[in-house]
Amino acid sequence: MAGRDELTSYQYRQMRARILRASDVCIMCGHAASDAVDHIVPVARGGARRDPGNLAPIHGVDGCPTCGRKCNNDKGDKLLSEVKRLQTSVDWYAGPQ
Ligand SMILES: [Zn+2]
Ligand SMILES: [Zn+2]
Repeated sequence: MAGRDELTSYQYRQMRARILRASDVCIMCGHAASDAVDHIVPVARGGARRDPGNLAPIHGVDGCPTCGRKCNNDKGDKLLSEVKRLQTSVDWYAGPQ
């Protein structure tokens, strides 16, 4: 999956910093304090890897300080329309945090 146009970590950090400066409201749960960015349309689904317009704030490995979700984990390679559906039925997921 990793191709020649894989972002270097430097490029990723630059892009992440720019996006989080503009907004830190998570695309998954809608709370602030995102510390990561993720592709809105996953690269695996044909989304542009390097297009800042395809990147949005999301809660990373530490999860959301407000609702506790691991938003980036939850999203994975799914489209937002698919995860939004999951979000409304999040009750069924009562696994260990
Ligand atoms: Zn979130
Ligand atoms: Zn949240």
